[in-house]
Amino acid sequence: MTDCLFCKIAAGEIPADIVYQDDQMVAFKDIAPKASVHILLIPRKHIVSLAELEPGDSGLIGEMLLKTQQIAAEAGLKEGYRVIANSGDGGGQEVPHLHFHILGDVRDDNWVGF
Ligand code: 5GP
Ligand code: ZN
Repeated sequence: MTDCLFCKIAAGEIPADIVYQDDQMVAFKDIAPKASVHILLIPRKHIVSLAELEPGDSGLIGEMLLKTQQIAAEAGLKEGYRVIANSGDGGGQEVPHLHFHILGDVRDDNWVGF
């Protein structure tokens, strides 16, 4: 989609601190981190949210969730990490391109987090 912030980051049209990318997904540091490690993992495909997923996206989403292991390890998160996907207005989503928040060192945070 041409007027989507995260599509533009995936295309390299808007700069971001990218920590991982391949032909299906891009991971970059959140511009306003809510934890000492806060990475966003997005599909290159423009999908608005979990609520807009189609059956054909199941492989992509599986690959993305598996990739959180590598991204977290490379970020030094030896003791674990949290993955969050805010979906839609009711879920507090602000950027309408599916993204998984990968957060580290959140043990003192509350469950909802932000
Ligand atoms: P949401 O509320 O949609 O789940 O999360 C959107 C996230 O995107 C927020 O944590 C926000 O800080 C982050 N964000 C918004 N604009 C930018 C940007 O231009 N660059 C980066 N790296 N992160 C952004
Ligand atoms: Zn997009």
